[in-house]
Amino acid sequence: MACAATRLLCAARFVSPRPGLWELASAAPYNPAPGVGAPGTAGGLEGEFHVGGGYAGCPRCGATSYVKCGRCEQLSCWRSESPMSTCGACGNVARVGGQLTTVQRVD
Ligand SMILES: [Zn+2]
Ligand SMILES: [Zn+2]
Repeated sequence: MACAATRLLCAARFVSPRPGLWELASAAPYNPAPGVGAPGTAGGLEGEFHVGGGYAGCPRCGATSYVKCGRCEQLSCWRSESPMSTCGACGNVARVGGQLTTVQRVD
């Protein structure tokens, strides 16, 4: 997950309270090791994506929700009071809509 405000990476952790449902449980600042490229994708998660009740917000900027970019498909933190989101990975600005159904695992 990328932080929309700072363009820095966070490691998002999802939990599945029941099959096909994923909740964002926590996010932590994530710094790729020097010399290592972008995080690899090791399989994807599928189902409905929500924000867990205990989620404390983006560790970089405090935003309490997240969106998936329609252009680069990266997750970014998102302030749910805003109708627009900015992608922390590619900078794409888009109106928020629809339902997340797939997420690429990055860890
Ligand atoms: Zn953020
Ligand atoms: Zn993007």
